[in-house]
Amino acid sequence: MGHDATVRYTASEALDRLRAGNDRFVQGTARFPTVQKEVLADLAKGQRPYATILGCSDSRVPPELLFDAGFGELFIVRLAGNVLSPEVGGTFQYAGVHLRTPLFLILGHEGCGAVHAALEAKFRGARDRSRIEALLQNILPGLDGIDPTASPEEQLRAGVEANVRWTIHQIMESPEARARQAEGVLQLVGAVADIATGRVRFLEA
Ligand SMILES: [Zn+2]
Repeated sequence: MGHDATVRYTASEALDRLRAGNDRFVQGTARFPTVQKEVLADLAKGQRPYATILGCSDSRVPPELLFDAGFGELFIVRLAGNVLSPEVGGTFQYAGVHLRTPLFLILGHEGCGAVHAALEAKFRGARDRSRIEALLQNILPGLDGIDPTASPEEQLRAGVEANVRWTIHQIMESPEARARQAEGVLQLVGAVADIATGRVRFLEA
């Protein structure tokens, strides 16, 4: 089955497609990759992805596979720790203005090394190379609510979710994002992938 690039999905339809794709992946009934030449030729004329995803660079969480999505379906940025940077903001703006994807997803994952490193720096004084530390600076503000007395495992679990919510919070600080959300044309959701099962858990707003 190919992706029909002529269809415009609503945000909730887009979310349903992600959920259904993740179900197929977890149940071992994924249909990827079955792309045909005609589909690629059709997509060469233009793309109309239904979801924009900011995910982690971690090799165990490729969004196309987790959501059993093919060519033309997902517009993706991947950065260690799924952090927001000016370039990510620009990519999201492009997706919103020019591609008009109805759904934006921030996809964290259990056991994230970047969040782990930020927690180690915050609570246990760990130091990293300068560019890694610069990356961690984007994560640390989101970890303010993490319980310092919790175990490292509990901190990491809470930190992964807090980091996703922090990225969402930063995006929603822009007047443009708030306006689009109010118009109902943009839906921004968070999710956390469980590496051990491939199951994606969507966060409540
Ligand atoms: Zn990660």
